[in-house]
Amino acid sequence: MKILVTVKRVIDYNVQVRVKGDETGVETDNVKMSMNPPDENAVEEALRIKESGKANEVVIVSIGEEKAQETIRTALAMGADRGIHVKVSNEIEPLAVVKILEKIVEKENPELILMGKQAIDDDSNQTGQMLSAKLNWPQGTFASKIEIESNIVTITREIDEGLETIKMPLPVVATCDLRLNEPRYASLPNIMKAKKKKIDIFSSDELGIDIEPRLKQIKVIEPPKRSKGVMVSDVAELVQKLKNEAKVI
Ligand code: AMP
Repeated sequence: MKILVTVKRVIDYNVQVRVKGDETGVETDNVKMSMNPPDENAVEEALRIKESGKANEVVIVSIGEEKAQETIRTALAMGADRGIHVKVSNEIEPLAVVKILEKIVEKENPELILMGKQAIDDDSNQTGQMLSAKLNWPQGTFASKIEIESNIVTITREIDEGLETIKMPLPVVATCDLRLNEPRYASLPNIMKAKKKKIDIFSSDELGIDIEPRLKQIKVIEPPKRSKGVMVSDVAELVQKLKNEAKVI
């Protein structure tokens, strides 16, 4: 079985994101970028499935500017076999990502696609669901456990009421939750080995995909600043303030 794993290059989750002065987006110049966190869980899960003998190849795909190849290399250093980079120069929306992934699926014929549940830059939480609909494959989203027995995939997902378990036949699109596993660190020898692993590069034009945005972003602004807190000396003062100043009780 071949597993395709999608990884997106995003601003590192530890970075304090700043909005650009002209309100057209957020600052990305000289900002640390990393693999989208749930995508690391997707890579880790694919490697564990391969190590258990249930898959024989893990292929990483990323769509984005030139530097997306650094993110692919990170996944290769974790242990993935090879990469595919689809070059696009601008921000790309989920529908266009899905159209590109459909083409890659046609070329690669994977049986399992592992993705992150959500990208922390756009917080869309759409790409996996749309890809499953376009491919007409079953989907298991927000997976916190994935088990594969012959051609049946059992996915446990966290929902408001508790844990839901669903079973579906391969081929499957699964989106991974942060609770799925603990992603490994790449060892130095594996980082060196990853430099030699193959990354195929395509452009969206070569794949014949129209990536023209369907959405128009009006502006991006900072959230309102929180006002400073007040220290109270006892519960009586707290109740008095909640009643008379905040007027919430
Ligand atoms: P989103 O729907 O934007 O929240 O993204 C959900 C998941 O889709 C991410 O965690 C990635 O695994 C995948 N994805 C979204 N955009 C890209 C991209 N440009 N390149 C590779 N994978 C992507």
